[in-house]
Amino acid sequence: MSDTGTEKPVIVLFRHDLRLADNRALCAAAQSRKPVIPVFLRDERVSGDHRPVGGARRWWLHHSLFALAASLNALGAPLVLRRGRTDDIIDHLIEETGADLVVWNRRYDPPGAEIDEALHTALAQRSIATRSFEGQLLHEPCALKTGAGGHYRVYTPFWRALNAMPEPRDPLPAPAALKCWYRKVASDNLDDWALLPQEADWTKGFSEAWTPGEEGANNRLQGFLDGAVGDYTEDRDRPDIDATSRLSPYLANGEITPFQIWHATKGQGHAGDRAGLEKFRQELGWREFSYHLLVNNPKLRSENYTTSFDAFPWENRPDHLSAWKHGKTGYPIVDAGMRQLWQTGWMHNRVRMIVASFLIKHLLIDWRIGEGWFWDTLVDADPANNAASWQWVAGSGADAAPYFRIFNPVLQGEKFDPEGIYVRQFVPELTALPNKYLHRPWTAPETTLAEAKVELGETYPRPIVDHQRARKRALEAFETTR
Ligand SMILES: Cc1cc2nc3c(=O)[nH]c(=O)nc-3n(C[C@H](O)[C@H](O)[C@H](O)COP(=O)(O)OP(=O)(O)OC[C@H]3O[C@@H](n4cnc5c(N)ncnc54)[C@H](O)[C@@H]3O)c2cc1C
Repeated sequence: MSDTGTEKPVIVLFRHDLRLADNRALCAAAQSRKPVIPVFLRDERVSGDHRPVGGARRWWLHHSLFALAASLNALGAPLVLRRGRTDDIIDHLIEETGADLVVWNRRYDPPGAEIDEALHTALAQRSIATRSFEGQLLHEPCALKTGAGGHYRVYTPFWRALNAMPEPRDPLPAPAALKCWYRKVASDNLDDWALLPQEADWTKGFSEAWTPGEEGANNRLQGFLDGAVGDYTEDRDRPDIDATSRLSPYLANGEITPFQIWHATKGQGHAGDRAGLEKFRQELGWREFSYHLLVNNPKLRSENYTTSFDAFPWENRPDHLSAWKHGKTGYPIVDAGMRQLWQTGWMHNRVRMIVASFLIKHLLIDWRIGEGWFWDTLVDADPANNAASWQWVAGSGADAAPYFRIFNPVLQGEKFDPEGIYVRQFVPELTALPNKYLHRPWTAPETTLAEAKVELGETYPRPIVDHQRARKRALEAFETTR
């Protein structure tokens, strides 16, 4: 469908909602019967708590925008790519096209929400209409309040309150067609944005692990519901089993909505999987809880939620940080996790907890440094989930793990990767070591090490810290926060 130029167009802003289905802003634009100009606007200003997209998510964004542009083309409305300050770009677009309506799906990260609020105010002053819609969360984060009218600090009552809310709406289908504006709107070239690594390509393994885009998201969800969901409750903590949905990057980039997932998990056809589905929904609940915390604590990634933590005596040794980042701590489960992150842009949740605990408690490195590394290397890097989870592990956050719970990386490895399948996948230099020693290679007899071709300190590092000593030191350090 094409327009003759008599009707003013509507601008649809895409940000963390790179999909056609269940996209309320896009649906509203289609229903307006106006010509539609879809725009992805890359506003990467760095100020205060606004920080640019990390490296792994840039890779994802490139491929996701490619997929979105193809889908929009098929509907007849080419995607316009623009880069710069949101207010400037929208001003230019309105000047160029005469658009009199701008629509978007709301963002809940404080810097994004602030930009959108300012845009709404500026456009209202010029009598340009705006409409915004929900899409990223089942419930507006401020809609849930405690009996006293405050915000929740503990997950269980939050989850209860969430379940007492009206049932989330049903997802919307993608528009069947869009009315195209009669003139071509200038767009940046996606390749010119150089979102993919320009020099050393550290994202090579990502393409084997992921198919960014809406279709990839739907395939993931369907595959999970047809398979792993039945054993989700028992197996979700096992990194050696493909037991979780791996939907996190699709959620972070808005290629699927929580409404679509919620709806798909209430089907009658999965009766035998009910426990798994319920547990899975509770994990989505953690995502809602993280946003609830972020919206109520905009400095969640930069300031301790519990201020007594400000006195914590961080050590921040650069050599220890480097060993952690490169998966060379000498603790196989930690190293496997950090290498999975580097190779695939993702890490299993249990292992995220183990590596985060190790960084904070064994190495006494500030959780904010770990959060920053995850921000740069995770394809699902999310401002709420990442900050809330790091604070949770540190013990500085809301509803946090108690500070004295210090994971023993050997016992964690033996419990959750009992056959060593996960460690062998990402730490191949230990492949031939018997299971008995796989999570504690330094305890293996010399002959066993020699037979497995493991030379400690050469082919694989010795532990950079001793667990018992590190544990004692961490407990002493944590005393300062009490
Ligand atoms: C230190 C640390 C950092 C983390 N950083 C992030 C991050 O940047 N982005 C991110 O999406 N998740 C983060 N998580 C949470 C969790 O590890 C991932 O959401 C999960 O591993 C994603 O895998 P999945 O999609 O297979 O999860 P599933 O088990 O299939 O869960 C379904 C969905 O529920 C949500 N979810 C699951 N667990 C959590 C949780 N603990 N907190 C909040 N939401 C959850 C995710 O959106 C996930 O996709 C972090 C956890 C830790 C311990």
